[in-house]
Amino acid sequence: MLVVMQAHATEEQVRAVCEKIETLGYRAHPIPGTQRTAIGITGNSGAIDSGTLDEMSGVQEVIRVSKPYKLVSRDVKEEPTVVRFPGTDGGFGGIDLGIVAGPCSIESREQAFTIAERVARAGARFFRGGAFKPRTSPYAFQGMGENAMKIMAEIRDRFGLRIVTEALDYESLDMAAEYADVIQIGTRNMQNFSLLRRAGRLRKPVLLKRGMSATLEEFLMAAEYILSEGNYEVILCERGVRTFADHTRNTLDLSIVPAVQKLSHLPIVVDPSHGTGKRDKVLPLSRAAVACGADGLLVEVHHDPDRALSDGAQSVTPDQFDTLMREIREIAAVVHRRVQAPAEAIARTAK
Ligand code: PEP
Ligand code: MN
Repeated sequence: MLVVMQAHATEEQVRAVCEKIETLGYRAHPIPGTQRTAIGITGNSGAIDSGTLDEMSGVQEVIRVSKPYKLVSRDVKEEPTVVRFPGTDGGFGGIDLGIVAGPCSIESREQAFTIAERVARAGARFFRGGAFKPRTSPYAFQGMGENAMKIMAEIRDRFGLRIVTEALDYESLDMAAEYADVIQIGTRNMQNFSLLRRAGRLRKPVLLKRGMSATLEEFLMAAEYILSEGNYEVILCERGVRTFADHTRNTLDLSIVPAVQKLSHLPIVVDPSHGTGKRDKVLPLSRAAVACGADGLLVEVHHDPDRALSDGAQSVTPDQFDTLMREIREIAAVVHRRVQAPAEAIARTAK
């Protein structure tokens, strides 16, 4: 159910409706829009007697949301959600694309700083790096843990880059909430519902990757778990799905970008690195992602990819990343978007 407030409804009227919803035993999610505030209601298994709310002052109408996902839906919020970061010009969902770049894993302070310097110079505003790695083999490199988080916190101070890192479980989630700016929930955890709920109780943006065999509806429902707990800052990420095709590691499903944008107000970025698994495919798929309207990219970059401890085969070099940024800047203009200029990043790093 959704309560649509009148355009001129006062804050007190919105608050009174929220209180009423809560006294009925449900959860109220006030979502301000440019025209009016809508209040999503969750926690109800069937229809609520709308009469009680219909009559309240400031209420325009009470409507049933027929889709299984509610708070992520455009029915609740028509205009796109823009995830912003105070003190920076980086964000997701606005005119500027959110570009996240960095190594798959933090391997050492020197490795992380070398890569961070280059991606900042190229114009990225977000630095990614794994501290806890979800590896297929228990014998493969598992990440540097908290030491990696500390290195990334230093990178934020030095280069002004915002930090994106993955949480695998409750422990790493709490740690990521402490050190990072955006918490990544990976493909293998997209339906880890207790982790999603816990991330929903944080007040940090969450980058949610699509499960490797998830449908669009399952993907949106996973995001709904996070929003239903009160965290409305979710960035979706297409990272490829399993198909019979074996010329790439996964099949990057770019058609989900316009499909998500039609149904949801949440921003969606594309990860062409895991999406293809091959370095030489990252540039062409990055171009395509921007062309089809993605709100940003997540790209693995390594200065010595052949010696990377994880995902070297799909990591581009800093020089290749420079080319990628130059090219997507031109493509972004065609689709009325922007990629921030490298010069600004250099000025920021000089501070
Ligand atoms: C990653 O970003 O390094 C990662 C492990 O991603 P995914 O969950 O998409 O495999
Ligand atoms: Mn990786």
